[in-house]
Amino acid sequence: MKTGNINVQTENIFPIIKKFLYSDHEIFLRELVSNAVDASQKLKFFSSNGEFKGETGDLQVEVILDKKKKTITIKDNGIGMTADEIDKYINQIAFSGAEEFVKKYEGKEGAEQIIGHFGLGFYSAFMVADKVQIRTLSHTKGAKAVQWESNGDPEYTLTDIDKSDRGTEIVLHITKESKEFLEKERIEGILSKYCKFLPVSILFGTKAEYIDSPEGEKDEDGKVKRVSIDVPNYINNTSPAWTKKPKDLKDEDYSSFYKELYPMTFDQPLFHIHLNVDFPFNLTGILYFPKIKENVEIQKNKINLYSNQVFITDNVEEIVPEFLTLLHGVIDSPDIPLNVSRSYLQSDGNVKKISSHITKKVADKLAGMFKKDRKDFEQKWNDLQIFVQYGMLSDEKFAGKSKDFSLLKNTDGDYFTIEEYKEKIKALQTDKDEKVVCLYTSNEEEQYSFIKKAKDRGYDVLHLAGPLMSHWLQKLESTFENVTFTRVDSDSLDKLIKKSEDIPSKLSKEDEEKLKPVFEETLNKEKFMVQFESMSEDEAPIIVTQPEFMRRMMEQQRMGGGGMYGAFPEMHHVVVNANHPKVGALLEKKGDDQKVMVKQLTDLALLGQGLLKGEALNSFIERNMEQIA
Ligand code: ADP
Ligand code: MG
Repeated sequence: MKTGNINVQTENIFPIIKKFLYSDHEIFLRELVSNAVDASQKLKFFSSNGEFKGETGDLQVEVILDKKKKTITIKDNGIGMTADEIDKYINQIAFSGAEEFVKKYEGKEGAEQIIGHFGLGFYSAFMVADKVQIRTLSHTKGAKAVQWESNGDPEYTLTDIDKSDRGTEIVLHITKESKEFLEKERIEGILSKYCKFLPVSILFGTKAEYIDSPEGEKDEDGKVKRVSIDVPNYINNTSPAWTKKPKDLKDEDYSSFYKELYPMTFDQPLFHIHLNVDFPFNLTGILYFPKIKENVEIQKNKINLYSNQVFITDNVEEIVPEFLTLLHGVIDSPDIPLNVSRSYLQSDGNVKKISSHITKKVADKLAGMFKKDRKDFEQKWNDLQIFVQYGMLSDEKFAGKSKDFSLLKNTDGDYFTIEEYKEKIKALQTDKDEKVVCLYTSNEEEQYSFIKKAKDRGYDVLHLAGPLMSHWLQKLESTFENVTFTRVDSDSLDKLIKKSEDIPSKLSKEDEEKLKPVFEETLNKEKFMVQFESMSEDEAPIIVTQPEFMRRMMEQQRMGGGGMYGAFPEMHHVVVNANHPKVGALLEKKGDDQKVMVKQLTDLALLGQGLLKGEALNSFIERNMEQIA
């Protein structure tokens, strides 16, 4: 037996490790299992290059929980270690300036990751154990089995032991404070979080499986009885879909992998992108396009980040642009630095490249789908549009690519690219300033009368709705020359697409000044603004509108953008058509007669816009009821 001191630059490295990792003790298991997996893969490698001539057998890692003895053992049949190797790899913690490093990043976000990356992974065992043993037999010929033991101070012992099977067992004697880790469910939870896709089989106890009774026992109905048997509980899928070649996978493989990733999700993704890059950085992964729900926020944080099949985090905000966090799936890259703070990550060249590569891949995939099967793309557009819109609004490069496959759907259910649509409507819907005016509705039922009037004039109406719509339209207007969007109910038809100069008014200034107060009296001044307009006779006598810019501001404010407008009041315009015969007739009336007629006309207009409510609606109904003899 030999005793010695672990070569740390400070005697106090263990307290630092313990304190430093306080928030995330569970990662000790990830570290130790990863080491065991590494050891197994190294053996496989030595076997394939002839350095190891023996039988590798089935390589696997076993996690054994002994609640009575209060131990967790991580056992592998990998390369093992000789006494010299233990001395080299375990005793001499060979990393530069570990102490300063640990101190510098103490308590910082992402700091947990440092442990694994600075060769401290093994020592994370001391976060949960007060005694750790390494029992190991090297794969090398004539190797002697040894046991290393330490209870967390820099002192260790090294003893020869009897161990005839190749590989390493790490035995952790769990402390009182960490007794949660002696619960089967807890360990199972950690393993399935971090180890679900490790490349070497991970075994943890047994699980019940139901099979037909082997003795052929029957139940009352004469059917063969189902009995439960204990089978080995393998935690992981050693070759997850993303590690395979796209050409070896079918659509079903992608959708079953999606289920594997999100067992609780029943929706199927719309499609997927298989990422496979090895230059200038290493990146594999599969991204899925989910059906995006109204509430965008809850969709986020579904992408899982792996490093060589070890789960790292599901917070990928710094690695992919924000709009891509709407996607689901897996990214695996050994090149993403996991050991540093967020601000560092953002300025890291590799991360930037990865981010722009993924963005490009996604845009190319969408463009490819659009080109390959337009009909199919159109069918998916409803689900895709919010993602594309989000992307266009947040990423200029993405916007540049996706403007050509962004679609507009009209009320007849036909889809157009912006350019196609411009071409289609320009003959009729170009205004006097040479702008092509795209009319749209956000709700065909509510805006029915406006849509009808527009269509009666031969105009086309788009159906555009969604939480990002007003921001997106703004984006399109600035991207495409001479295109504007305006909702059908945002102005009178003449004004929506202003063609020639003004139509002469049949009302004089004095007439208007006489009538205006009568209108204002019947309306809430805070909510409605009365104005006279000289329109064609085929328009309604009174139209209630909400100017496009005003509505956009309010919508954008609701979405949390554009704080500069402060509290924007909900305002509508009550536009009186100066040329309508009914308005002309108003001038002939006096006193109460006039008031009643004004009231009736405005109420009808408000009713048409769904703005007649509460008491006003009730008195309208009562008034009209009286008319029925
Ligand atoms: P890292 O894994 O980053 O090298 P660790 O502290 O996790 O740092 O492990 C230190 C070293 O100890 C490993 O590089 C490896 O050489 C050795 N080691 C740890 N666990 C095992 C194991 N189960 N089998 C063989 N060698 C191991
Ligand atoms: Mg390690």
